[in-house]
Order: sequence, then C-alpha cells, then structure tokens
Amino acid sequence: MHDTTTTAAAPERESYYLAHQKIYPREIAGRFARLRSLAVWGLLGIFYGLPWIPWGARQAVLFDLPARKFYVFGIVLWPQDFIFLTWLLIIAALSLFFFTALAGRLWCGYACPQTVWTEAFMALERFAEGDRSARMRLDHGPWNGAKIARKSLKQFLWIGFALWTGFTFVGYFTPIETLGREAFALSLGPWETFWTFFYGFATYGNAGFMREQVCKYMCPYARFQSAMFDRDTLIITYDQTRGEPRGARRRGASAQAAGLGDCVDCTWCVQVCPTGIDIRKGLQYECIACAACIDACDSIMDKMGSPRGLVRYTTQHALDGEKTLITRPRIVVYATLLGLLIAGFIVALSLRTPLGLDVIRDRNTLYRTLDDGRVENVYTVKILNKTERARRFRISVTGPGRLVIDPDPAEFTVGSGDVFPAAVRVRRDAYDPLGSETIRFAVVALDNPTTRVTTTARFIAPAH
Ligand code: SF4
Ligand code: SF4
Repeated sequence: MHDTTTTAAAPERESYYLAHQKIYPREIAGRFARLRSLAVWGLLGIFYGLPWIPWGARQAVLFDLPARKFYVFGIVLWPQDFIFLTWLLIIAALSLFFFTALAGRLWCGYACPQTVWTEAFMALERFAEGDRSARMRLDHGPWNGAKIARKSLKQFLWIGFALWTGFTFVGYFTPIETLGREAFALSLGPWETFWTFFYGFATYGNAGFMREQVCKYMCPYARFQSAMFDRDTLIITYDQTRGEPRGARRRGASAQAAGLGDCVDCTWCVQVCPTGIDIRKGLQYECIACAACIDACDSIMDKMGSPRGLVRYTTQHALDGEKTLITRPRIVVYATLLGLLIAGFIVALSLRTPLGLDVIRDRNTLYRTLDDGRVENVYTVKILNKTERARRFRISVTGPGRLVIDPDPAEFTVGSGDVFPAAVRVRRDAYDPLGSETIRFAVVALDNPTTRVTTTARFIAPAH
C-alpha cells in the first residue's frame, strides 16, 4: 500500500521581487556637495527664470506650437528650421558620449533633471522633517500631532513646488505672464490645466517618491552608459588596497599597527548615498556618481588623521598602478566630431537667412500667348518673412531669353512672421525661339540686400 505519511517536499518558492527599502540619505558637506549645489540651484534657476526674461514684446524663450514658431532670444525658428533642432539634439547626444567616456556619469551626478529635482525635494523634506535621524524617528514613530504637522508641511511644500514646476513648464509654450494672470483668475484653458497638473504630478512622483528607483529601474542611460566606459574613464571608487581589511579603531590610532586598512567601517559612505549602495563593493550600475561618498569619506579621513582619497575619483588604470591616458582614440574622435558639429551649427545659424521662398506655377493654364506674340506664365511667389518686423521685398527673375516681370517693380510688404502670396506674371519676347526652360526667382529685402534667397521654376512655352 502506498505510504501516505511521506510526501515529497514542496519546492521552495523564491521571490525575485525586492521590496523597496526607503532610503534616508544623510546630508553631507564638502567640495563635491558644494559643486553639486551650484549645479542644481543654477539649473533650477535657469528653468524657473528663463520664461520670465522679456525680449522685446515677448518672452525670450517661447515655443509657440499653434503658430509653429520657436522664439529663442533674438532667433525665430520656423518648421523649416527644424534641422537646427535636430542638429542640437545630435550635439547633446554626442556631448553625453564624450563626457561619459571622459569623466563617467557626470550628467547623472550633477545635471540630470531626476538628480536636480530630487535634490530640491530633499531640501524641502529636510526643512519640514529635519535631518536623517529626525526623519527616521518620525517615520518609525507613532502618528501624533507633531508628525501630522510635519508631514502636512512637507506635502504642502512638495505639492506647491510641483505645481509651480508644472506651471513653469507650460510657461515655455504659452506666454507665462498671460498664464499667470489666467491661473490667478482660475481661468486656465483645459490643455494648460492638464499639462500643469500632469507635469507637476510627474515631478512630485519622480522626485518625491520614486527617486533612486527611477535611476535604478527606469533610466535607459544607466543601462548602456557602461558601454562608453574604458579603463581610463574617471570613476568614483573605493581604494580597496588601502582600505582593507576594514575595521574600527580609535581616532589617531595607527591602522598599520592594528593590522587594519584605512577604512574604519563607519558606513558614512553608505549613509550619504542617495541610491543606498555601498561603494566598497566596487563599481555598480546604481551609482549615479554624485560624489557624496567622497565627501563623507574625506571628512572621516580628516577626523582620523589619514590622508583623503580612500574613496575618490580615479580610473581603473590608476588603481592598477598604470598611467591614465586622457587622449585616447575614442576621446579624440568624440571631441573632433563634437567640435565640428558645434562649429558647423554656429556658422549655419549665423548664415541662416530669415527669409523663405516658395514658387508655385499656375497649373490651370500652362502658358498664355499674348496679342503681341509674347508668352506669359503666371506664378504665386510665397514670401515668408521670418523676422519680427514687417519688411519690403523685391522679386526678380532671370533665365534664358529676355524675361519681364509684372508688376514691375514687383515689390511687396510682408508682415512679421507672415507668408505673403504674391501673384506675378513672367513674360518672354515673341521672337525668342526657346521652348520650356528653367528660370530663377530671387527675393531680396530692400532694407538689406544680403537678405536674399533664390529658387527655380519652370517657364512653359510652345516648342518651335
Ligand atoms: S556610491 Fe557614492 S557616488 Fe555613487 S551614488 Fe552612492 S554616494 Fe553617489
Ligand atoms: S566612509 Fe570611508 S572609512 Fe567610512 S566606511 Fe566608507 S570607506 Fe570606510
């Protein structure tokens, strides 16, 4: 009979889900913290301040999507100029490659919006709830009046800051002063309301709650940036040879005499880490290179009377006692390409003609033979004035044979940002034995002859 008392042991179920542990980064002062603060507050200042800078009758930076015009200080970019935007994006991508290959994750540690806004939200959190230990005590303590007051203050500050962020974001697309007046009068349009709340909510969620999880689990750059690393890339690392074996010792006591390395195992480098990792375990993709652990360890080394730099910026080659090579092939290639792209961008932008031209031949009649035997074609010459003032332009035409334009002179005033469809007739002498030919239209600004564009069109005539 089958023995029912012995059953096969159920396979052990292992969970691959790691429950999120809230991180309470300790605040640290130091040279890299100062640098980060400078970058963070500088970038935030630019973001919040830029839409308020006036430029003539409008704001300096405005992306007017309905009118399909981007204003960037004195430059007005039209859909035809989107090549410049593409160009800028290529420069930005290449800069990221270049700086990553040269100095590791500089972008993540100092300039990434996730880092910048998380720093701002953490500053508000510290203001409302206190330092690391006060925050931990508050979170683990019972709900009482003080806890409710502090948590409410934090939420109030966070939500206010997030909404201001959403408002500023929309202020890049709608004149921000108008937006401000509408917001005060509670008369924001549906799209403006949606984007203010949407962007505000995204900021609140990412910088207030998700924080390091965005870097660890959502950011694609974190995954592929290591492909740009080599053994000469600047990384933040713990000097294992110097630090191990780690262990506690009294201040001023010789590590060598105690048979220890310089690491006193104080865990400060872990406590300050915004992603909650231990740099002593080696280079990890979660490390955003914020350098907080360098400041933390330097302050401990100062206290212990040991030289700074147990955790430091270095390269793998330097750690192995080899020479670090800065001008290596990939750096030279990136730098050359970047230099060429930037120079090309500046030249192209400065040579950009603020004038557009499009010529459409009247398709209803191929040509007309006039009473005097001349051949006439009719065109619509579309002049696009990309400047911010009305200008007067003259149209001229050249090509084989004696061409005459009607009206003569063909001069038109085009308003700022307008496309003016000028109807012109082009005639060719009767005795001209030519057939259909390509002719060239030119439009020139009367106030500045260097503002000139040309294009070609077909002149249709009966074959002789
Ligand atoms: S390991 Fe150091 S540099 Fe990396 S994220 Fe943590 S504190 Fe910043
Ligand atoms: S801060 Fe420096 S001394 Fe302290 S645990 Fe980290 S590496 Fe060791």
